[in-house]
Amino acid sequence: MASSDHVEKVLIIGSGPAGYTAALYTSRANLEPLMIDGGPGFGQTMQGQGGQLTITTEVENYPGFPEGVMGPELMVKMREQVARFGTRFVEDMATRIDFSQRPFKVWVNDDMYRAETVIVATGAAAKWIGLDAEKPVWEGGLGGAGVSACATCDGALPAFRNKDLIVVGGGDTAVEEAMYLTHFASSVAIVHRRDALRASKIMQKRAFDNPKIEMVWNSRIAEIHDPAAKRVSAVTLEDTVTGARTVRATSGVFIAIGHRPNSDLFKGILDMDENGYLTTHHEVRTNIPGVFACGDVQDHEYRQAVTAAGSGCAAAIQAERLLAAEEAGAEVTW
Ligand code: NAP
Repeated sequence: MASSDHVEKVLIIGSGPAGYTAALYTSRANLEPLMIDGGPGFGQTMQGQGGQLTITTEVENYPGFPEGVMGPELMVKMREQVARFGTRFVEDMATRIDFSQRPFKVWVNDDMYRAETVIVATGAAAKWIGLDAEKPVWEGGLGGAGVSACATCDGALPAFRNKDLIVVGGGDTAVEEAMYLTHFASSVAIVHRRDALRASKIMQKRAFDNPKIEMVWNSRIAEIHDPAAKRVSAVTLEDTVTGARTVRATSGVFIAIGHRPNSDLFKGILDMDENGYLTTHHEVRTNIPGVFACGDVQDHEYRQAVTAAGSGCAAAIQAERLLAAEEAGAEVTW
């Protein structure tokens, strides 16, 4: 069907919880969605099939799984569920778009797809420092092995309970993750490259007032010890002012230096904030009528699988209503 006259009713870009939920609702509404799923390859960018949940271990906060579920397994189940209702997949990345008029055009390399509505669910990616020890996490979801970019996902794992942990970063996320970890850990050191936090004042106060949190200023992690043994035993800290190096024992390193929405493809076309998050109104409507955005690419606040799924549902229902109204010749407001 690529590059033909065929026009999809709904084209979904992205295959995390938001994309799959949008596919579930639109396929059950007989809209036969086509999903461009990012392809099987995933890595640091986390734009591939299944998205960020494929780099976490046990998910205990997705409703319906009293024993928890492994992130990658949850994403396979979501895929099987939408395939059952007829969702079709293009197993690759979207490379170019033209939203200047309907039908919208989306390319995957040389193949062009046309669609009446597009649901953007390309997610976000955790930023990494760039250390070798982080690589197993990109490649296989080793949060339980000691390095993680998500305290909410991994912090309660046995590997981190009653242990001394480190959070890297100085923003609200770092403080929030550190606060969360204090529920399980013996102590949490926030390692920050400067001598002042970027986090909001109220969050700073919470960190400073928490007896389990220690601030390690002017420091960066130069090395994480023992990745080959699939565990973390210590880090080498480098003083960013003097360059002096020290080794500090720790059982886990949580990288919390921010997220980057996967929105490069839409720059200059869809409205976004200064950090690249797509801005929406009516929850999931972009500035272009017929183009919806859901999940982490438009949510920098909650960033949870269940909230992404919820907004994917909203996008699907709104797309269905828009198509139905247009088909009925009703007046459509955006
Ligand atoms: P952020 O505000 O961009 O902070 C990132 C932090 O990581 C900064 O302190 C930065 O250091 C540090 N950093 C960046 N790159 C680094 C590197 N390569 N090595 C070491 N440190 C590095 O990101 P965020 O904390 O994820 O917050 C993003 C947005 O979401 C913010 O607007 C925030 O207010 C909001 N948010 C709000 C809440 C809340 O209100 N509860 C919770 C989470 C996030 P520098 O300071 O030196 O640049």
